[in-house]
Amino acid sequence: MEQTIIYLDNNATTPLHEDVIAAMNRANELYGNASSMHAMGREAMEAIEESRQAVRDLIDAPEGSIVFTSGASEANNTVFNLFRERIDLGSKRNRIVTTTIEHPSIIEMVAHLRELGYTIDLCPVDHTGRVVMEEMEKLMGDDVALVSVMLGNNEIGTIQPVKEIALLAHHHGAYVHTDATQAIGKIPVSMEELGVDYLSLSAHKFYGPKGIGVLAIRKGVPFAPFFHGGHQEGGKRAGTYNNTAIVGMGVAARIAREELEEESARLWKLREMLREGIEASIPNVVVNGSRDYCLPGTLDVSFPRAEGESILLYLDLEGIMVSTGSACASGSLEPSYVLLASGVDIELAHGSIRFSFGRYNTEDEVHYVLEKLPPIIKRLREMSIR
Ligand SMILES: *Cc1c(COP(=O)(O)O)cnc(C)c1O
Repeated sequence: MEQTIIYLDNNATTPLHEDVIAAMNRANELYGNASSMHAMGREAMEAIEESRQAVRDLIDAPEGSIVFTSGASEANNTVFNLFRERIDLGSKRNRIVTTTIEHPSIIEMVAHLRELGYTIDLCPVDHTGRVVMEEMEKLMGDDVALVSVMLGNNEIGTIQPVKEIALLAHHHGAYVHTDATQAIGKIPVSMEELGVDYLSLSAHKFYGPKGIGVLAIRKGVPFAPFFHGGHQEGGKRAGTYNNTAIVGMGVAARIAREELEEESARLWKLREMLREGIEASIPNVVVNGSRDYCLPGTLDVSFPRAEGESILLYLDLEGIMVSTGSACASGSLEPSYVLLASGVDIELAHGSIRFSFGRYNTEDEVHYVLEKLPPIIKRLREMSIR
């Protein structure tokens, strides 16, 4: 019998699209160093520039803004590091504002910078995971250098009012960054419309390869490279171009743009099917996040009196792959910091499971989950001493 594999962990990473694989196989022949002046170099650079345009189109970014990085973690770190440098150089704007539910690549950077003595304020979120705008307003001031707020949360899917936050921050003279990694290919993302100065994304969250991403930087805003070396990317990011990965990301970007509307509706439908099925078949469940502002395809549910890790392992035995909290934080057995920051109580935070859909999931798979999940929860609750 064939092994069942139902992959519902698409917010952690996605499989490669077949067109991406084909394009990358071809691009493996493009071994020229894209910075070389000879024909092989120029051919590689041409392919890279094509990908740059595809990414730019995908996020409606200004001309000249796209800088390739190794992914969203590097892009996020680059932004925080450059503002840290400006503070070191004596900028009067010496405070950074972000939120309590950012991706670990920001949360951990914040912890590190705080240890070094920098002032970083975390704006709280409400019980749906949305930034509380009144609190954000209170945190503004003429000493704020940077405001960084993610567009869509990786764990509970909450979409933030980034456009409003950008307006507010700019009004106070601060620069604005958004980590748009989870939103790409799921909701329309326009850097122009959002009005942000910096935007991070990562190819492996939209069926492209791992280890490649983008930091989009609006012209005229502060910048300092994180990597020094060769003159790639106009001196903004040193290191020989990863031709293959960049080409793969370009193809993934083109597909994501073309199929956005259809895919977004399909993901939402699957998510709602599973949510309704769970609510109908399992008593006492809590759906986390926001009903009105949620990424299609993300469903985070707490099952009181059942441990998240146990649910995950039992589902895994049935071939169903999900996550507890964020992939980067799981394995730690710590309750989700995103849920705790949203005011979810600690027991519920311990019993949460994230189902995240992608382009290869089907309705039949949702039926299969709805067949396997209720008895697992029932059994775990019977075993529970609480
Ligand atoms: C996955 C993810 C990242 C990290 O991206 P990498 O390319 O793996 O470094 C950053 N932010 C969010 C919101 C993510 O979902």
